Amino acid sequence: MNRRERKACNGGIFMSAKMKAAQISKAGGNFEIVEREIPEPRPGQVRVKVEACGICHSDSVVKDGVWPGLQYPRVPGHEVAGHVDALGDNVTNWTKGQRVGVGWHGGHCFVCKYCRRGDFAMCVNRKITGVDFDGGYSEYMIAPATALAAIPDEVPAAEAGPFMCAGVTVFNALRNSGAIAGDVVAVHGIGGLGHLGVQYARQMGFNTVAINRGSDKAELARKLGAHHYIDAATNNIVEKLQALGGATVILATAPNAQAISPLVDGLAPDGVLLVPAAPPEPLTIGVFSLIMGRRSVAGWYSGTAKDSQDTLEFSSLKGVHPMIETYPLDRVAEAYEQMLSGKVRFRVVLKIS
Ligand SMILES: [Zn+2]
Ligand SMILES: [Zn+2]
Repeated sequence: MNRRERKACNGGIFMSAKMKAAQISKAGGNFEIVEREIPEPRPGQVRVKVEACGICHSDSVVKDGVWPGLQYPRVPGHEVAGHVDALGDNVTNWTKGQRVGVGWHGGHCFVCKYCRRGDFAMCVNRKITGVDFDGGYSEYMIAPATALAAIPDEVPAAEAGPFMCAGVTVFNALRNSGAIAGDVVAVHGIGGLGHLGVQYARQMGFNTVAINRGSDKAELARKLGAHHYIDAATNNIVEKLQALGGATVILATAPNAQAISPLVDGLAPDGVLLVPAAPPEPLTIGVFSLIMGRRSVAGWYSGTAKDSQDTLEFSSLKGVHPMIETYPLDRVAEAYEQMLSGKVRFRVVLKIS
């Protein structure tokens, strides 16, 4: 439905156009469906007509008001898929109608010392979509042109959304982990991040181990491409990993410090425990184990728009798909609760148009 209306005004014509958005207006507030003016892109920006937007656990920083300096009202959403609807001045590399995604990385400054070295993800002035500016729980949004990723034709919008945060995070973590083809790579936790991590690990050529509590995920893990499944409820994970020669990388996607901390003993020498999702509590790591195996623990931070585009293209090339549940924008509160419940298999996506 075209929500735009043209109205005569003082003999001229101006566009009075409204859009629907889901906003949070205070820390701890509920989602409010509101009508807003459709925003105009400024120089260097584009307007995106949003088709789908994933709901990520990190959206809770807006809902709960835990991000320093966050200004309300704010429209969350950083797993955005849609198409370019209007171009601001000085945008030369995108065209109207082009399919694009917008992810967590919402732009960078180009002048800080990390940007000057081309490490835009580490920009000290980086912006976060749906946190520093309004995101994708909306029919339209404004994004810096530098935050856009082109979506391949084969990837539907509802699947493209989750690749823009969950996907790029694990894809980028694994491809920069130092593991090479044939190495043992374990993915701990088969959830929103982990079900993608297992697929990427398999498709990147790693000897792929999926770890989760319970036997019910065993078959799914194998379908996603895992060569091995370790039921954490009935097995000693460390012994099982060491029986495989030890893991070069363990991607810890379940944000549970108690479960993650002992995993370092399952690493091979020089192995890395890679943590892309923050547990609320600190990890308790035995440093002796790090020293004796020259092992390390590292965090991983998302990626730039180009990393997201690489994620989309790799996923299209290799047949990696997110498993999603979709909701209309009007049911955003219910969709958000479903994400929080942990019952979702595995990503919640708002289908907006
Ligand atoms: Zn996210
Ligand atoms: Zn910068």
